[in-house]
Amino acid sequence: QKQEPPSGPGGENDSGAKVGVELLCVVRALLKKIKRRVLVGDKVVVGSIDWVDRRGTIENVFQRNSEILDPPVANVDHLLVLFSMEQPTIEPFTLTRFLVEAESTGIPLTLALNKTELVNEETLVSWKQRLHSWGYRPIFCSVETSQGLDSVAFYLRDQTTVIVGPSGVGKSSLINVLRSNHRPRDAVEGDNWFDPILGSKWFEDQRVGEVSTRSGRGKHTTRHVSLLPLSGGGYVADTPGFNQPSLLKVTKQSLAQAFPEIRKLLKDSEPAKCSFNDCLHLGEPGCIVKSDWERYSYYFQLLDEIRIREEFQLRTF
Ligand code: GDP
Ligand code: ZN
Repeated sequence: QKQEPPSGPGGENDSGAKVGVELLCVVRALLKKIKRRVLVGDKVVVGSIDWVDRRGTIENVFQRNSEILDPPVANVDHLLVLFSMEQPTIEPFTLTRFLVEAESTGIPLTLALNKTELVNEETLVSWKQRLHSWGYRPIFCSVETSQGLDSVAFYLRDQTTVIVGPSGVGKSSLINVLRSNHRPRDAVEGDNWFDPILGSKWFEDQRVGEVSTRSGRGKHTTRHVSLLPLSGGGYVADTPGFNQPSLLKVTKQSLAQAFPEIRKLLKDSEPAKCSFNDCLHLGEPGCIVKSDWERYSYYFQLLDEIRIREEFQLRTF
């Protein structure tokens, strides 16, 4: 017997988008049996709905457009790689690792640099040029002064975003700002909502970690993952992603594709190609990828790391 969904706590958010009612769901045994995990962000079919007790059963999971493991979220369509200009400063190799990890997911990414108020204009301009040469156009922002936050919000609009970056750069602070500026009209602190399409959203405070004076880095403060709705449409995960990029999904062959510099060199020389199909661009005969770009040594270093890992895996399995 079908019943009408009751009104509230569902309703509309600030932009008038419908926010669903919360249903506490169990996963159908058959799905568990075939080891189909249900992730936050999954689009699911809910059956056997009891509107009075607000319970249901997840009958099936739709095919995912994307999936990341840290934090576990399905259907992520945007990654925001966040670093800070100071406290901690940008360490170019660490930034490269994060960018490579992000690029390797195949999910579009935006790079943002926080804490701009801590450095002078000259420093900003030189980083802008440097990152441009890497193939990125970063957004400069400051959670402290709100500078650039409109641009950040613009890039997040209508997408499901996971913010990634090392600790201490301001990820939790940014999530807090996005949440407090964009919470649905009737949401109360401590309420949790469930959108039958996008999973549950909690409004607990995301703890902001203190930067420890010794290392200049923040403490690890992440908890469970949930999606926060944004007023312009879209969602942001309340838990930042890949604190330590493991690069486990990156292979020797796929690494080059994670460097915009190499992608551009290959594209610019089309239809010419490297002589070897499996060219790693390390100076092989007939390689069209030159080594005169800043991050070439990082590419080389990461390739070595991946090569060692792959050889180790071959020996162990
Ligand atoms: P997370 O580890 O990346 O989540 O970083 P947090 O959000 O915990 O922030 C680490 C520290 O940086 C906190 O003390 C924040 O108050 C501070 N912080 C965040 N954004 C800014 C900013 O724009 N400027 C300055 N000066 N400090 C900031
Ligand atoms: Zn090559």
